[in-house]
Order: sequence, then C-alpha cells, then structure tokens
Amino acid sequence: MTQFIHPSRKFSLQPSSASGKKVLTDGIAEEHQGFDCYEEFLSTFLERGYRFCFFPELSEPFFELVLRHDIDFDTHLALRMATKEKELGVRSTFFFLIRSPMYNVLDPQDYENIQLIREMGHVISLHFDPTLYVDFEQGLRIEVDMFKSIFQTDIHIVSLHRPSTFFQQHDAPIAGIEHTYQSRYFRQVKYISDSTGVWRYGHPFKTQEFLTGKSMHVLIHPIWWMLEGRTNLDKLRCYYRQRVDALKANFSENCIPFRQLNGHL
Ligand SMILES: [Zn+2]
Repeated sequence: MTQFIHPSRKFSLQPSSASGKKVLTDGIAEEHQGFDCYEEFLSTFLERGYRFCFFPELSEPFFELVLRHDIDFDTHLALRMATKEKELGVRSTFFFLIRSPMYNVLDPQDYENIQLIREMGHVISLHFDPTLYVDFEQGLRIEVDMFKSIFQTDIHIVSLHRPSTFFQQHDAPIAGIEHTYQSRYFRQVKYISDSTGVWRYGHPFKTQEFLTGKSMHVLIHPIWWMLEGRTNLDKLRCYYRQRVDALKANFSENCIPFRQLNGHL
C-alpha cells in the first residue's frame, strides 16, 4: 500500500480488484482524485514553495510554476477560476479561442469576463487552432492581429488547440511568436495536464518532480474544476444541462414565438 501525505488529508491507495487501477479508500479512482477543490490544489504548490510566474519569466530549474489555462468551453468558468487564483495571490495565463463554436470573445458577456480576468493581474492571450488554416503561419498572424486589436494587448506566447504530434515537436516559434510546446516550456520543465479531466500520468503531487521541487508547466482546464460532479463525465453532464438551459433562455429572449415552445422541449 502506498501512502501520500497531503497537507489537509491523508490518502490511502489500494489496488482495485478487477481493473488493476488504484482506487482511493472512498471509492474514487486515482485518476479522478483531487479535482474537487481548486484552492487546495493551488495551496499545495504554494506550501511546497513554488512561485507562480508567467511564461517569459520561467528561468529557474526549481520552484517556478507557470500555470496555463486553455479555454475550450466557457469564459464564465474561466472567470471563476481566475477569481479563486487572485484570492490566493496566484498569477496565471488564460488562452482564448477566437474561432470557437462554444463561446465568442466578441459577445458582450464573454468580452467582459476576459477583461475582468486581465484586470485581476492574469495574462490573456490567444488559443490557436492550426487545423483551421491551410497556411497555419498566416492563420496565426491573422488571429494574433485580431486578438491584439480586440483586447488592445500585446501577445508574447500562444497555446495551440489540440496540437498534433507535429506541433508538439515544433520547437521553433511560429510566425515569430512563441508557443507553449517549445522545449523551454514543454520538455525542460515538468509538464502536467488535466486534459480530458483525468490525471493520465498519475496525480501530480506524487511525481518525483513535485517531491524534488522541479519547475513545472501546469495546464488546467476550468471545466474539470469549476463544476459539480465526481468524475469527468458527471461534470460534462452538469455542464451540458447548464448550456441547454442558457440556450433556451437566449432563444426566449430573442424570439417571441419560441416562448410557446419553452417548457415543452
Ligand atoms: Zn484547446
């Protein structure tokens, strides 16, 4: 049996019977564990002695942590996450899509949410999907110019949306702009990601790098932390219902005949 001492809790890990996966004593599989309290997650890094910094500041081999958020779904959840970080004195970088089917940075509420995140002291930048372009360098230039114009900000680094192996191994800047998969950020420090809502390579606090204080690049998606639910699927279910309700409210507000349908859908 392995034991991991957490500042506020002690977890006992035991091998599960059928799958061979480890399960915690309260029945939650190890890969889902620890997504329930974001403040506790951040505090554990602070208590370990990590200093949160922005990408261009990352320079030391130990005790620096660059916290990154790729916003794939929702600026409201991003704002909630930014607020919790500010309360802890934590700084991070939020990357937003400007050609997303899930949100619209020009929507007044999304625009305001992003501005509020920046006013809290976080960095905002572009989350770029290279698959939307035949010439991804030209596409990046176009989107960077749009983002700079919309938010009146400079862009020093971008993150790539669902990067293929080609982009994960692309060590040079793209169109002269740094990206988060360059070696400096992706291979020379420990990289941790909560993509898909599970810890696919084990819990970060049990890695050798955390235990020795190695500098880290941590990618966190708000959707896995800001919603109710024990597992990633529970959270997606919860989020989907919220979006359907919001869509119905928007239809009702913008289309009088729809109000006769609302309640029957
Ligand atoms: Zn993405």
